[in-house]
Amino acid sequence: MAETQAPVRVPFMRTDRQFAAIRDAATAAMLSVLESGRALQGPATERLEARLARMHNLKHAVAVNSGTDALIFALVGLDLPEGSPVAVPALSFIASASAILHVRCRPVFLDVDPETMLMDAGAVLDLIDRRAVRAIVAVHLYGQMLDLEEIGRRARERGIAVIEDAAQALGSSCRGRPPGAHSDATCLSFDPTKVIGACGSGGALLTNDPRIAESARLLRYHGHAGNRVYTRVGFNSQMDEIQAALIDVKLDHLEEWQAARAAIAARFQEAFTGHEHVRGLRILPDRVHNFHKFVVATPDRDGLQRHLASQGIQTSIHYAVPLHQQPCCAATGNQPALPHVEAAAQTILSLPMYAELTRDEVDHIVGTILDFSRAAPLTARAGSAD
Ligand SMILES: *Cc1c(COP(=O)(O)O)cnc(C)c1O
Repeated sequence: MAETQAPVRVPFMRTDRQFAAIRDAATAAMLSVLESGRALQGPATERLEARLARMHNLKHAVAVNSGTDALIFALVGLDLPEGSPVAVPALSFIASASAILHVRCRPVFLDVDPETMLMDAGAVLDLIDRRAVRAIVAVHLYGQMLDLEEIGRRARERGIAVIEDAAQALGSSCRGRPPGAHSDATCLSFDPTKVIGACGSGGALLTNDPRIAESARLLRYHGHAGNRVYTRVGFNSQMDEIQAALIDVKLDHLEEWQAARAAIAARFQEAFTGHEHVRGLRILPDRVHNFHKFVVATPDRDGLQRHLASQGIQTSIHYAVPLHQQPCCAATGNQPALPHVEAAAQTILSLPMYAELTRDEVDHIVGTILDFSRAAPLTARAGSAD
């Protein structure tokens, strides 16, 4: 049976619906920036920085042009010797690793826990105890936080830095604490795909360390120390005032949208609990998960993805190629096989997940997945060549 692509009924993202809900506040905020004539590093950016620092109980927030730049500036701020090994999970967005390469350090790719897909904490602790890395880029994948309490404590004892890649974890917490409690710096992204997205690019670096904050402030605009004096070689990575104003408006809805995603996640989880072939990832009890992504794992992932597409449901894969196998990272040295990450790349599928999904759309997604499993057992599909 050839499955064809149906017209899209449930797109993977619906930022149009999100905008409709905030149209008045968002257009007023953006218009007031245009009328002010301040395009960069003005009051909207300062207000956003103060808000982000407060939300994370951290002293400093530096708004920049992207989450990628926040990661790079955090790593530059650590001032690591060239070639330093830096741990990073092999299941993440490319920027988690490329930031390490940008500062001429060497990524040490780690496997993940197959139930949560979070970086293998035991492997991280082992690297820390053996002093085998100088820093760790800890990724809170899909919006579920990696517990950094023990990792942060032991790393601190041994002079190893911890950077949190919280690009996917705005609104998440671990035992009541948001990202930033156990690390040297925390990086956020406001890419349009994230839970709070700019209409363009944006990011922020958060820290209690005044040196890292000062370094990032200099790096984001050519090392400009005032009065056209440039004290170090930097970049142009400012956040636009318009983006800052829009992000600020959207932050008013963070909790409401997160609650809506959590309700949808609960329906997905219930539908797949005890399911023979499709499993949701493990949600840890002491976390608040922001459900940035809802990921399932299933042996016939490509078949399920095609079947969903045939019913008008768009899905995506985060991530189909593990970082240690990406061409731009592959030259970085001998990397052992990472079995769980490599298996995950073949089996994971991200379902549509946004606050504006309707009840009917969620029913359609769930029903289509259950139908697929009923229609043909996986054992029969495994050998099919379509
Ligand atoms: C999105 C993302 C980044 C990069 O953020 P940008 O704002 O797109 O540069 C880094 N790490 C992870 C895990 C991400 O999801």
